[in-house]
Amino acid sequence: MKDEDENKRKLKILCLEDSPMDAQLIYEYLYKNSEYEILMDIVSREEEYVSAIKFEKYELILADFILPGFDGFAALEHVKSICPSTPFICVSGFIGEETAVELLKQGATDYVSKNKLGRLIYSIERSLKELNEAEEKEKRAAELHIANQKIEQLAYCDFLTGLPNRVILVDRLRQAIDLAKRIKKKIGILFLDLDGFKTINDTFGHFQGDELLKDVAARLVNLVRESDTVARMGGDEFIIMVQNLESDDDILTVANKIIDAFRQPFDLNHNEIYVTASIGISIFPEDGETHELLLKNADLAMYKAKEMGRNQSVLCTTIMKDIITENMKLSNSLYRSLERNELEVYYQPQISFNTKKIVGLEALLRWNHPELGLVYPGKFIHLAEQTGLINSIGKWVLQTVCMQNKAWQEAGLPPMRIAVNLSIIQFQNSEIASQIKEILEETKLLPQYLELEITENIAMRDTDYIIRVLNAFQEMGIYISIDDFGTEFSSLKYLKLLPINRIKIPMLFIQGVNVDERDEAIIKTIIVLARNMGLDVIAEGVETHQQESFLAQQMCYEMQGFYYYKPMPAREIEVLLRTDS
Ligand code: C2E
Ligand code: MG
Ligand code: MG
Repeated sequence: MKDEDENKRKLKILCLEDSPMDAQLIYEYLYKNSEYEILMDIVSREEEYVSAIKFEKYELILADFILPGFDGFAALEHVKSICPSTPFICVSGFIGEETAVELLKQGATDYVSKNKLGRLIYSIERSLKELNEAEEKEKRAAELHIANQKIEQLAYCDFLTGLPNRVILVDRLRQAIDLAKRIKKKIGILFLDLDGFKTINDTFGHFQGDELLKDVAARLVNLVRESDTVARMGGDEFIIMVQNLESDDDILTVANKIIDAFRQPFDLNHNEIYVTASIGISIFPEDGETHELLLKNADLAMYKAKEMGRNQSVLCTTIMKDIITENMKLSNSLYRSLERNELEVYYQPQISFNTKKIVGLEALLRWNHPELGLVYPGKFIHLAEQTGLINSIGKWVLQTVCMQNKAWQEAGLPPMRIAVNLSIIQFQNSEIASQIKEILEETKLLPQYLELEITENIAMRDTDYIIRVLNAFQEMGIYISIDDFGTEFSSLKYLKLLPINRIKIPMLFIQGVNVDERDEAIIKTIIVLARNMGLDVIAEGVETHQQESFLAQQMCYEMQGFYYYKPMPAREIEVLLRTDS
């Protein structure tokens, strides 16, 4: 009997009861009938009662209603001001229905009549369960709050150099653009990339590589005015934003100053080493009126600087002409790509870590260009977006994928969800939901086998519209994921409002596993966040065994990446699915 008691969960109760006989009755009843080991303190006077709840922690209060000099209402008031979360059950003789209801209204957990003690066990179970749930909810809310704070903190500052990161830079650049428009000034963006940084990392090790990045950051900050911004974009890439420019010459002066500053050696573990940099420059407004364009064009110019032999700066305008003509050629042939059957959907498997089986596929577009060969979406999706062609291309992808999926199911392959990427332009088309519905009906594919991937920049736009469209998708039964989560400026509070099913952790962070603590912290946080919000989570761009193990340790069990499979044409996937099942 004693052993058994030791295994029982203890339940600490305060019994407020002025009749010792009744108190004894309640105790005996609970002793016999409950699954708990009952630890019951008994008090009857108000001061005793108040000091008991003040200084002891009870899991439950059982209170008589008529008490010497006070009553159940007063007893309840004390609980509310001293230990409001403790369940309070009134156990008393007849008090009348009205009083009982009033007690409950005032916040009592329950009322049990002494004549019907049989109900007490049930009442206790219920109040403990409710308490447990409330505590659990509170704990989750607190966890979520901490996760939010952490991700915001990690998201804005570059861990290594303390410089602003991409998110902050974009924010400042947006503001600078607004201001520059009003005061009619120029903004210069210098995109700087160190030459041969990889060799330095390989020769001196990552630790010394990081030291060099810190030195470079310090040198850059010293060169510019306080009103300018130096940010680190990741790796060995830095952006310098120069405001209030009168002319293009001003920005060239800054660029030359930076190139000059690299003529001095850096001290790396007592070795003098010489490092150079390549700089691409874009200028607002002539090289772009949005932050996206300015950054992209400065990046392009930087590549040109590398191509031209490094250690120099290149102005965007001088190379833009070439790029524009090349893009024009490409978008001209893109127009005909659909009718010429040059587009093809590749599929990349998504794996369950536990079973090592394929649990889903992501559709990724490819262009078999007659002259250029296989062209990747990175080269042409933005052109398709700029020209509006993405609407018809996107529709074709959806049709192709749904048809293919249905055909595979009819051929007896295991039914599987396939994800299609949606562009922001497609999303802005108010017909998108009905268009997808039609495609599902035409192809007879059940909606649960279609997944739509939207990026954060879609998710974070016009809230009401987005939520409406996403709701329409979900009502149809389509599965929704947020692609490349955490790479754009996202509001977590807003994210909570979105009807989505899963978060995809981008390759950008996965590549930091075992390399950059900051990326690891972000991955952990995203996983906690997903769990707290009841969302699924999948990691993308998994390339190594270490990355796989890290993710599994963090309880992310779905993965996609070259470590398992590359994207493949439909016929190869079909063979794979046959052998995998
Ligand atoms: P995404 O949706 O984030 O797709 C993941 C990209 O990462 C794919 O590139 C995939 O091939 C690549 N990837 C997957 N695992 C690994 C890995 O382990 N290592 C490396 N290095 N890469 C990996 P892809 O196919 O070039 O597509 C690039 C982007 O183009 C996609 O990013 C998506 O945003 C867009 N895209 C692709 N197909 C479509 C489409 O049909 N419609 C729209 N609107 N966008 C598309
Ligand atoms: Mg995707
Ligand atoms: Mg992605």
